[in-house]
Amino acid sequence: LGPTITAGEILVEIMSTSIGAGFLEPQPLIGPFPSGAPAIFIDQVAKLGSPAGIISAVGDDDFGRLNIERLKRDGADVSAIEILSDMPTGSAFVRYREDGNRDFVFNIAKSASGMIRMTDGARELVERAGHVHVMGSAFAIPGIAEILMESVAAVKSRGGSVSFDPNIRKELLTGQADARKRLDQILGVTDLLLPSGEELAIAAGLDDEDAAVASLLASGISEIVLKRGAQGSSCLVSGKRFDCPAFIVEEVDPTGAGDCFGATYVTCRRQGRPHDEALRYANAAGARTVTRRGPMEGVSSFAELDEFIQANRSDI
Ligand code: ATP
Repeated sequence: LGPTITAGEILVEIMSTSIGAGFLEPQPLIGPFPSGAPAIFIDQVAKLGSPAGIISAVGDDDFGRLNIERLKRDGADVSAIEILSDMPTGSAFVRYREDGNRDFVFNIAKSASGMIRMTDGARELVERAGHVHVMGSAFAIPGIAEILMESVAAVKSRGGSVSFDPNIRKELLTGQADARKRLDQILGVTDLLLPSGEELAIAAGLDDEDAAVASLLASGISEIVLKRGAQGSSCLVSGKRFDCPAFIVEEVDPTGAGDCFGATYVTCRRQGRPHDEALRYANAAGARTVTRRGPMEGVSSFAELDEFIQANRSDI
């Protein structure tokens, strides 16, 4: 299998240590943790022992080194990550609301992640790739849509496949006038769609779940996987539906669950595993992630997932 690749932000994440505290006054924070949704995704694919690489950029600083070392340690290909001497590595500050939602303060546009280019190293990675994963949060980066679409075209022309996690972050949508057009462009080349929350309704332009799924499957998407947090996940393909309950765990930090879930699902399907097995492994990967503080701290190997599945109950 050619590597699974993506393009997008690499960040450090620094987070609140309490629920409900805002950023308007000093408080204890924890971090830096390696992060950036596309980076978490790729790190999780690599941790499963599957070839994975990311087109990105970091600064020539400790935050960049922290990320590159982690990606390398977990087995990811870092050859398409450009190290920029004149820009800092991007960052995200996260606070947690009482209702379970999160607010982010992102520093992407004026960081190395805002300057991602199709370098020679990136082209070389695309030439070897077998699958492109598109992460919606990355579209805040100027030029990333072109890099992703060029990668998609190259990989599809060789018979490869495409997955898409809309990962809509309201903080990153500001000023993206062509967001709808871009969403439709990506949906038009997507084989596997991985929405959560309201993203299914936004993608289809329909509020009713069944109608939204039917419309997207009719448009050419072959597989839709719905992420439902502590309610687990479902997979919908033409004429069939698989539901998988979540594992019962104590949630410490929800960040990264969707990325690790998606990476595990995509990897299992690329390895030819059936839908229900892929969902179960993906649920386990998402659940393991939320039990650890830090978005990339809960990435799992297959051995760790097998052990977790043996030791933990799901709500059947
Ligand atoms: P994020 O944007 O935070 O990365 P997401 O909204 O894309 O996440 P979620 O639905 O929150 O995705 O999580 C993905 C999967 O992880 C869920 O479908 C579920 O299998 C697992 N998961 C998430 N939260 C929990 C939880 N509290 N308990 C058990 N499993 C969970």
